[in-house]
Amino acid sequence: MSTRTLIVGGGIAGLAAAWALARAGARGVELHEQDTQLAMHASSRNAAILRTPMPDPVLEAAALEGAQLLRTPPRDLGADSFVDTNGVVLLGDPLHTPWLQRVVARPQTQALRADRLQALHPLVRSVAPTIQQSATSVEQAWLVPDEGSIRLGALLTALRSALEHYGVRVHTRSTITHLEPGRGAYDAQRRFYPADRLVVATGAWAQPLAASAGSTLRFQPTRRHLLIAEAGRALDARWPVVWAEQAPFYARVVTRGLLLSSCDEVAVDAQHAPVDPRVLSTIVERAHARLHVPAHLAVRHAWSCLRTHGPNERFVVGPDPLVPDLWFLAGLGGHGITCALPTALMLAEWMTRGTSTHPLAAAFGPQR
Ligand SMILES: Cc1cc2nc3c(=O)[nH]c(=O)nc-3n(C[C@H](O)[C@H](O)[C@H](O)COP(=O)(O)OP(=O)(O)OC[C@H]3O[C@@H](n4cnc5c(N)ncnc54)[C@H](O)[C@@H]3O)c2cc1C
Repeated sequence: MSTRTLIVGGGIAGLAAAWALARAGARGVELHEQDTQLAMHASSRNAAILRTPMPDPVLEAAALEGAQLLRTPPRDLGADSFVDTNGVVLLGDPLHTPWLQRVVARPQTQALRADRLQALHPLVRSVAPTIQQSATSVEQAWLVPDEGSIRLGALLTALRSALEHYGVRVHTRSTITHLEPGRGAYDAQRRFYPADRLVVATGAWAQPLAASAGSTLRFQPTRRHLLIAEAGRALDARWPVVWAEQAPFYARVVTRGLLLSSCDEVAVDAQHAPVDPRVLSTIVERAHARLHVPAHLAVRHAWSCLRTHGPNERFVVGPDPLVPDLWFLAGLGGHGITCALPTALMLAEWMTRGTSTHPLAAAFGPQR
């Protein structure tokens, strides 16, 4: 195939798109990233949790496929697995939460009694003092055993190596400001890069770039906070991720302590999303409710980053409905690390064969 493809955005979406296109036989693939390095934004500032149960069954199906690819990666990514399968402990009330019922019905899901929960993760309180329990709503715990943490550094390194292997040209410090589908793209210095097809993989910055080509697709960046706290005791890297559905909260053991979030989500402008100290207080409050941690929780590092949604909060994968030769792998929301590989393979099939046979193509296609 002699068509030239220019991918804009060097986060996991752009890297995975370039990998999937190159392995599908596309020649002349190039990737442009505005920063000095690849994957400096959401793709390296996320929680790297592999947790497939989620409210939207379509996203859940994509996450299950992503989980499989991360556990058993294609050979050209050169790793046995990108997952530490320590498990995910889910805390919630299935009677009132339909998506929890789906995970409870999975054959591998295990109901956890208090003693088993304690043995699996000694920090977790079996009954959280400030979480309301009533006659009609009782929180329970389950273990989803084959999920856990994604080896993010290894995954990004493997994708970068694969691009080198396939001869994909990577331009860093290259801010693409204007797209001319069918012709190419301009950078901030008005340099022109000829290309037949353009792929928007610019995460939180997808909408303005797509609009420069005449696309009317909408993307909404939302902000989420994470912090790393000292737990006041030795941590075991084999403890599972903990995910609470009520008063949302999650905790994961990382090298420097406990990675915590209260799953906040506020629509923001991608250019201005500073850390909000009130959200950090909520995370600390929920950590006290959920975990046996010191009364004074020492925060080592806190940050916020952007999760960006497409229409109806589903991924945007495929061709623009109105603008020919303009393609998307964007709007990966809170699941891009889990779902980049399957969505990139879907995009590559679509771009190289002119159609996608993937069962989720209609749900993720921009024309929906
Ligand atoms: C706090 C937080 C926690 C998360 N936790 C998880 C998790 O546990 N599991 C999971 O699966 N997912 C998680 N995610 C989601 C995941 O991080 C994202 O879905 C994913 O990183 C999005 O990747 P991306 O490549 O689309 O965007 P980005 O990583 O933001 O990459 C976009 C890139 O495009 C570049 N760019 C933008 N405009 C231009 C331009 N004009 N020219 C050139 N380059 C440009 C940017 O510099 C950037 O590098 C989390 C996200 C956040 C914020």
